[in-house]
Amino acid sequence: MTVIRKDDLISTVADALQYISYYHPVDFIQGVYQAYQREQNPGAKDAMAQILINSRMCAEGHRPICQDTGIVTVFLKVGMNVQWESDMSVTDMVNEGVRRAYNHPDNVLRASILSDPDGARQNTKDNTPAVIHYEIVEGDKVEVCVAAKGGGSEAKSKFAMLNPSDSVVDWVLEQVPKMGAGWCPPGMLGIGIGGTAEKAMLVAKEALLDPIDIHELRERGPSNRSEELRLELMEKVNKLGIGAQGLGGLTTVLDVKVKDYPTHAANKAVAIIPNCAATRHAHVTLDGSGPATLTPPSLDDWPEITWEVGEGVRRVNLDTVTAEEVKEWKPGETLLLNGKMLTGRDAAHKKMVDMLAKGEKLPVDMTGRFIYYVGPVDPVRDEVVGPAGPTTATRMDKFTRTMLEETGLLGMIGKAERGDTAIDAIRDSEAVYLMAVGGAAYLVAQAIKHAEVVAFPELGMEAIYEFDVVDMPVTVAVDTHGDSVHKSGPAKWSKLIEEQAIEVV
Ligand code: SF4
Repeated sequence: MTVIRKDDLISTVADALQYISYYHPVDFIQGVYQAYQREQNPGAKDAMAQILINSRMCAEGHRPICQDTGIVTVFLKVGMNVQWESDMSVTDMVNEGVRRAYNHPDNVLRASILSDPDGARQNTKDNTPAVIHYEIVEGDKVEVCVAAKGGGSEAKSKFAMLNPSDSVVDWVLEQVPKMGAGWCPPGMLGIGIGGTAEKAMLVAKEALLDPIDIHELRERGPSNRSEELRLELMEKVNKLGIGAQGLGGLTTVLDVKVKDYPTHAANKAVAIIPNCAATRHAHVTLDGSGPATLTPPSLDDWPEITWEVGEGVRRVNLDTVTAEEVKEWKPGETLLLNGKMLTGRDAAHKKMVDMLAKGEKLPVDMTGRFIYYVGPVDPVRDEVVGPAGPTTATRMDKFTRTMLEETGLLGMIGKAERGDTAIDAIRDSEAVYLMAVGGAAYLVAQAIKHAEVVAFPELGMEAIYEFDVVDMPVTVAVDTHGDSVHKSGPAKWSKLIEEQAIEVV
């Protein structure tokens, strides 16, 4: 009988969450680097360079890879011969580990969890509770798998109950373009097939915990249907040409994982859960000898990459920029932003649009300004702000027309594509939408030289800040004519891949 003490599980969970907040799995780094080397679209290559540079900086600085430090998901396999020495339930011990990790003074993580999800949506302040899955297994050990899943990628999960004769491949290829770029590709797809509705989702999530090893599978060849599907889907998804950050390119997925489970004769449940540029998971075992420890990777595991903008790149002064100047910006063009921008995301937008509907004055003048969709991590030590990468812009689409027409806002900065409603509003107001790289949050934060909350402090990380930035790199994603790089890029690259028979895997 193995005795597992309370503090051993709590420290193990807390340490693992700190570890995965700043260390990417090495297989992920290698996967992105190989994709970076192969990439032919300069925009997508730049995005991957930023992801790799950000990753190395986080490993060195012990700060989060992404401002969204995730919802904690834990898979516990508890041996039947384990005895717990604890006055807390296992669930409470895991949540105490989450609490300690997210409030760690040296590396504060962002608390993103809200209770009462369809009501008051109150932040629980310590990122609890975790989503915990238990399995009772043979043996006298406890296997702990800890993941921190970003909201942007979780939001793109898909599920369907297919007919038994329907094709999983056809369904996946229909869904992936609809997922857009809000899941911050390149990443992985976890596909769950069979079981019941909830089992298909669960095995899709579990599938994402395996390392990237599609190249080994290709070399040895498939030995079952799931492996055949992995190879087929990897090639066909990458041929869609979506590319890094949805800009068009050769790599959308670094691997496709498929897990199945026996099912009812009448059913074929299928689920897709993507994992993003902030892939974060760690696996440890408790054997009664104390907390489990994780060995830090070597910095040699990260490639030495430099990213430099070309000589002629346009520098924009946000403090003086005019509507006329904005009209000159071309889709796909890189800009370096300088000066003051406002921030705001879901809750702030809802609040502002409600105020405008009631005829109330907004707490900040938006005329001629840019708003950055971001919810930063709190700063530590001498930081101005913690990691502060962009959040998914499509969630702000429904507010865009009101914001542009009633506040005089000139432009927005976020990640991923805009929907047609927002694009129409941008074109009608001759405004612009700029894109920063999702998953490069610590790198983006280096461009922010001053940060100050200017409205709605009660919203915490969703408050409106004013950032003063120097050379913050962004890409023009929707220009004043409504041309979107997220439409033109994938269309161009899927055609090129097909016409020139370019290898995508
Ligand atoms: S990389 Fe993108 S999807 Fe993933 S956690 Fe960060 S912002 Fe969210």
